[in-house]
Formats: sequence, C-alpha cells, structure tokens
Amino acid sequence: MNIELNKNPAPGWVVGVDIGGTLTKAVLVDPEGEPVGHAQRATPVAGGPEAVMAAVALLIAELSLLLPAGEDLAALGVAVPGAVDAGRGVVVEATNLGWRAVRLAEGLHRLVGLPVFVEHDVRSAALGELRYGQRAVTDFLFIALGTGVGGAVVTHGQVYTGVRQLAGEIGHVVVAPGGPVCGCGKRGCLEAIASVPAVLRRVRELGLSACLTGEDLAALVAAGEERATNVWHEAAEALALALANYTVVLDPEQIIVGGGMAEAGDLLLEPVRAAMARQLPAAYQVKVHASLLGAAAGRLGAATVARERLQERSQ
Ligand SMILES: [Zn+2]
Repeated sequence: MNIELNKNPAPGWVVGVDIGGTLTKAVLVDPEGEPVGHAQRATPVAGGPEAVMAAVALLIAELSLLLPAGEDLAALGVAVPGAVDAGRGVVVEATNLGWRAVRLAEGLHRLVGLPVFVEHDVRSAALGELRYGQRAVTDFLFIALGTGVGGAVVTHGQVYTGVRQLAGEIGHVVVAPGGPVCGCGKRGCLEAIASVPAVLRRVRELGLSACLTGEDLAALVAAGEERATNVWHEAAEALALALANYTVVLDPEQIIVGGGMAEAGDLLLEPVRAAMARQLPAAYQVKVHASLLGAAAGRLGAATVARERLQERSQ
C-alpha cells in the first residue's frame, strides 16, 4: 500500500510543535506537506502551562515570517510527552512537565487563533515516521528509547490507539518478573531495565561512577569496558525479549527505534537483532533499524496530525 500525501485537497500551511521536557521544537509545513522551516526554544517548564503556551505562540510568530505574502496558517498540531485526550485537546497528565488536566487546545487557540490538535508525543513521532520516514512501510512498531521507553503501533497505515488510548506502551511490558521497580509502580518493566536512567544507575552501581550520560556509556561499550558491556547487553536482551513478543503478536514489517538511545545505532541494534533471532521462531522476519528522522519525527508528526485532522473536518 502506498501512502499518498496528496490524496485529499491540500489542507494549507500548518505548524507542528513538539513540546519536550527541555526544548520545544517547531516546523512549518507547506500545503504539499513539505517542511520549509524549523525553530526551537527552551521549554519554560517552571512557568507552568501558561509560559509554555506563550513560548509556542512565539515559535509560531517566528515561523509565520517564512509564509509567502498573502498566505496564512491553517492549523497547529502539538505533540506532548504524556497521556492525552486527543479528541478534547486535553493533556490528562504529563509528568515531565508537571501538568495534569491542562486544556491545551483551548488555551493555545485563545493565544494564536488557529484550530489546535493535540497528540501524544510518541504516537506523533510514529505518524512522522509513517509520512516522512520509510513511506512505503505501513505496519511497524515505533519505540522511543530515552529517559523513558515509549511505543506506538502502526498497522495498515494507521496509528492504533486501543480502547483507552494506551496501546503500544511497550515500556511497561514485563521482561523481568520481580525485577527493578518501574515509574509505573510495578516491577520488571522494560523501562525499569532499558531506559537511559536505568542503565546508567546499574553501571554506576558497578563502580563506573563517571558514567553520567547515554553517550558516556556508549563510548565505554565501544571501547570494550567489561562492566559497561555487560549492562548494555542485559538492556539489549530485555529490549529484544519485549520486541520478540510484540512481533509474535502483531507480525510487523519493521521495528523503528527512535529516542536518544537510537543514536548509538548498530552498537545497540546488533545485539538486539541477535537476541531476537535467538528468541523468535524462524518464520518471523522483522527488520529492526534506527529512525531515519531522529528528533524531527515528533514535530513532523505533529504537523501531520494538524494536516490530517483538518482534512477529516473538511470531508
Ligand atoms: Zn512500568
């Protein structure tokens, strides 16, 4: 199945915004779906939702300068790191931002005067991968490995949300019963073993106290440091177990790995592929690779959310 970007009438110019715990990044997308300009600002988390919304309005003002004379923006899409009620445009809870029950679409609409569509950041990134990454691939799991472990399921070219909009949360698949406590309160979740903070905590427990970032750890692994390599392989095994189980249930074409850890590339993905090959029956053939879009997936996905919901409205 081919994805046809221009199947429906062009929805006009849109901005996609990805609100992160540190940076808020925006992209201006033209009516054909091409990104034409990017901008970013620090996320003023301490100022609360009002300050973040004001920062988003400034990004929109900045990108609006790139619009051709006589053109206006048609909509804004916003990706948020947390649970979202997409239909009502409400952020139910975003722990990194300290938000709970924030009426984001309404608040931003008041500030910028545009239709505003809100989406979960990982789901938004999966949509970005679908429309701007490997466009011919319509069945995949997108997994974001970073401070947390998030996931989103794309099947038949659609992001599958589940009944309670909880589908794809592969970070809370149990890979080690009785294992380390997870942020969700349960034990042995993938996130409690393979997230960046989880692997860093373990290498520091083993005496590598100077290992402070994912990049530090990847450098130690690349240099063959034994303790770092053991922890790295444990994380890769846990990741492979969750991904192998996912593959048996949904038989996807690909698994696309995004988030900060994906920057380690094959240093991480080769041991994951090897462990999956050991765990999976031979009939399952799934490609595991790093995102082609990197951090741009979230904002491109947010712009896609705006384009597609505008089109739905106009039909
Ligand atoms: Zn959990």
